[in-house]
Amino acid sequence: MTNKPRSPAQYKPNLTPAYQGSMLMIVAPSGAGKSSLVNALLQADEALKLSLSTTTRAPRPGEVDGKDYRFVSQAEFVAQRENGLFLEYAEVHGNFYGTSRAWIESQMKTGRDVMLEIDWQGAQQIRELIPEVQWIFIFPPSFEALEERLRKRGQDDEATIERRLAAAHIELQHAHEADFIVVNDDFEQALVDLRNIVAASRLRAGPSMARNPALLRRLGV
Ligand code: 5GP
Repeated sequence: MTNKPRSPAQYKPNLTPAYQGSMLMIVAPSGAGKSSLVNALLQADEALKLSLSTTTRAPRPGEVDGKDYRFVSQAEFVAQRENGLFLEYAEVHGNFYGTSRAWIESQMKTGRDVMLEIDWQGAQQIRELIPEVQWIFIFPPSFEALEERLRKRGQDDEATIERRLAAAHIELQHAHEADFIVVNDDFEQALVDLRNIVAASRLRAGPSMARNPALLRRLGV
């Protein structure tokens, strides 16, 4: 399957101009501890909603369809892509992953804070469509730590681990495109850093003003 050039008109998101929420993307090489951090963040912050991606990857032991991902066949993914159902999609480690356009649009219409856990290719696409998005990059404390985490979780075979390590080098080259860097050396500190970023994103001028129309009127802003 190839990444066909897309028609921008087909993929243009239908966003509410006065979006009152925050949109955050979290990007990291495999093994940086991103999923554990995101889970802890979501537990601590009920207002933040995580986008559920669609993938052609086979479920890992314990993963549940509709909770961890929407697991689909290659044919189903192509059909959804052709119908413009993805806001972004990318091939990562030999599988396809995509973000539901309808879900993102519905969250934005209701002003919710959303988080996307995606790769750098998807992050670039989203930033082009939604320039206000905040891009957070998670660093592992070292390359050795990354490798150790990948092996310890014992969910992937050797070939998959090797492919993910090679991809990690590429992923890390895109860290300079992010707005924020969090080093996941000490988990609790990394979580505090993430919560601070979310808090700061909620205080940005655009969303703050959109949330306070009456105050703006009173202040004559
Ligand atoms: P995993 O297979 O380990 O769950 O995820 C592999 C990579 O795919 C991770 O970097 C993850 O962030 C990325 N990914 C997950 N969902 C999406 C998505 O919807 N779009 C893109 N572009 N990448 C995704």
